[in-house]
Amino acid sequence: MDANNTIENAKNATPVVLDGSEGEGGGQIVRSALSLSLITGRPVQIDKIRAKRRRTGLMRQHLTAVQTAARIGAARVEGAAAGSSSIHFVPGALQAGTYHVPIGTAGSTTLVAQTVIPALLAADGPSTVRIEGGTHNPMCPPFDFLERTFVPALERMGARVTATLERHGFYPAGGGAIQLTIQPSPLVRIELLERGEVRRIRARCVVADLPVSIAEREAEVLRKKLGLKPDAVEIRSLPDGPGNVATVDVETDAGTIVFTSFGEKRVPAEKVASNLVREVKNFLRAERAAVDEHLADQLLLPMALAGGGAFRTTRATPHATTNAAVIEAFLPVSVTFTVDGDSTLVEVAPKM
Ligand code: ATP
Repeated sequence: MDANNTIENAKNATPVVLDGSEGEGGGQIVRSALSLSLITGRPVQIDKIRAKRRRTGLMRQHLTAVQTAARIGAARVEGAAAGSSSIHFVPGALQAGTYHVPIGTAGSTTLVAQTVIPALLAADGPSTVRIEGGTHNPMCPPFDFLERTFVPALERMGARVTATLERHGFYPAGGGAIQLTIQPSPLVRIELLERGEVRRIRARCVVADLPVSIAEREAEVLRKKLGLKPDAVEIRSLPDGPGNVATVDVETDAGTIVFTSFGEKRVPAEKVASNLVREVKNFLRAERAAVDEHLADQLLLPMALAGGGAFRTTRATPHATTNAAVIEAFLPVSVTFTVDGDSTLVEVAPKM
């Protein structure tokens, strides 16, 4: 079955009803449901939104995703309000165009981007989207991951997407902006089953309106513990903050994975860098894993839209299994996770 059949078979079907407290019980259920509703044309009802989070219901970032999805898909929505724990979303026709999306807080621009990219790939013309808010938020993909990990993975599947950082926005101050261009493109099936060689490891330590010595201390730890040459570690100092982020790009035959650690008050720079080293080493230890645990949960939706695909990752997180369940509720595909030595094989296939 090809991608068009997968989506065609899902179209005009009954509304989808989701329990937002299932599995991970976070915002990703809402974002994936919006993308899938827009693409399949199936209405969706989501209850108990973000029930497993400390502050439940729609936060600013999620509300912006709902409102933007509604604009893109000429949708009728009930329950689109801050704190709302239920929404009913009835999509109309997808509309390519130029969208300006001010989140209004430091809410994550990259997560709003992930909601709109799949839908606009399925629209009937090119789109440009400018999103304002946070670009470097804890527990969210930093812009670097969107740019160098997620978008290139989509490009391998045939997507024509660009992502540009206009201005950094660190949590909690925000004030950042990103720009996306999206050309309609059908997605094709890919397999990322082997990592192959590690070609290069590079790091970047960024401080914004904070002493540059913080970045220098992080860089020192990364150089030592990852055995990096001095010129493989970049230090950047930006004016608008405050904020601090350290990233490591691991470039392999299967693509680039960006790992991230954020500076926090009362956490020494050395600890921020050591946490990052631990994550990178965990990935490198699983020698066949081509995909890290974050890209794993984010690849499932485009792979399902492509009619299938497969990859090997370090482990299946609750984000990944929860996202798989949301996708299976919309599309006639099944997602399987098979532990295989020190990695996990993930397969997305048409339902028999
Ligand atoms: P909440 O958890 O408050 O509901 P949320 O909307 O941020 O909020 P989650 O459901 O937790 O939603 O989804 C977070 C997403 O961010 C997941 O796709 C996860 O893989 C991704 N993510 C988190 N940290 C990173 C990181 N360091 N690099 C790349 N992606 C990340």
